[in-house]
Amino acid sequence: MIKININDILANYDKKNLRIATVCSHSSLQIFNGAKKEGFKTLGISIGEKKKFYDAFPLGKPDEFFIVNNYKDILKYTEELKEKNVIVIPHGSFVEYLGAEKFLKLNLPTFGNRNVLIWESDRNKEREWLEGSGLTMPAEIKDPHFIEHPVIVKYHGAKGGKDFFIAKTYEEFKKRINKRKSFTIQEFVLGTRYYLHYFYSPIQDNAYKLSKGSLQLLSMDRRDETTIDEVQRLGSIAELEELGIHPTFVVTGNIPIVIRESLLPKVFEMGKAVVEKSDKLFGGIIGSFCLETVITEDLEFKVFEISARIVAGTNPYVAGSPYSEMIQPDLSTGRRIAQEIKYAVKKNLLHEVLS
Ligand code: AMP
Repeated sequence: MIKININDILANYDKKNLRIATVCSHSSLQIFNGAKKEGFKTLGISIGEKKKFYDAFPLGKPDEFFIVNNYKDILKYTEELKEKNVIVIPHGSFVEYLGAEKFLKLNLPTFGNRNVLIWESDRNKEREWLEGSGLTMPAEIKDPHFIEHPVIVKYHGAKGGKDFFIAKTYEEFKKRINKRKSFTIQEFVLGTRYYLHYFYSPIQDNAYKLSKGSLQLLSMDRRDETTIDEVQRLGSIAELEELGIHPTFVVTGNIPIVIRESLLPKVFEMGKAVVEKSDKLFGGIIGSFCLETVITEDLEFKVFEISARIVAGTNPYVAGSPYSEMIQPDLSTGRRIAQEIKYAVKKNLLHEVLS
């Protein structure tokens, strides 16, 4: 568990002049836009230069850029950033660029509970958490000799589905596997993919009630993955595999989606179970998280992954989603994060939502 004394840092902060900061990538436009809507100043951490494309999006542009040579250098500038009363909003690229170890040591107030990384980045621990919450995950195949149905082979630490592959037999697996890398073999679940974007507040009771705090569903998306999502334009996967053309799972964008309304109770039950289990395991997840699911033809959810911070799939909803519209008009996940920080400042509860 990390031990950064947030209260010591916050004691020296000017709470009226907090600055919402993140790395200029991933969901930063939405985070800055949401923070501005809630009246915060914003700071964008960027490599080498101010990112020119922000000029084209004035309402998503940070008020100030903080230029570093290398993302790993952020650790060297924490004193300077503290003087600016910075609160860091981590996103997937932030954690990836900095590296999990350095992110855990980053001596700056960070939205969410950083301890979740330990449970999220280790596939065995992630399974312990999700299955321990009563969720169904795709079966794991421990020995490739027992591949009887289609499987997806995932390399550990591979970002954006890079080099993942499908195998239907042991022979196919043997042909494609890179044994120098560690991997997991999962049942390939046939169904439709839904990436569910939740927001859990441990300090507010105005949504779906949990033992402590409450849960919102802000939006959902489906990832657009190249080449798997378009490969059928050329021929069937089996046909193409024969020619040595293998589909890949590299995320290139996100598509908005809504779910059958009758599945919403299950969506909330799953979110609740994950939050309550996290409390027992590591002191609790905070704020945004995403369950990555496949729904089978029996309308069962199989959850293949959890992402414990804002996901890029929330980006189609800068101006709100069909779900967040029924909470408050114009509510993005970025804005909801800013609201949580604002509420925590007002109630003197910042230490409850930061780590
Ligand atoms: P992941 O890195 O685990 O998010 O997986 C990358 C992509 O692979 C997902 O977005 C899905 O399209 C696909 N995928 C992952 N796990 C499974 C599974 N068990 N069954 C079917 N598709 C999967």
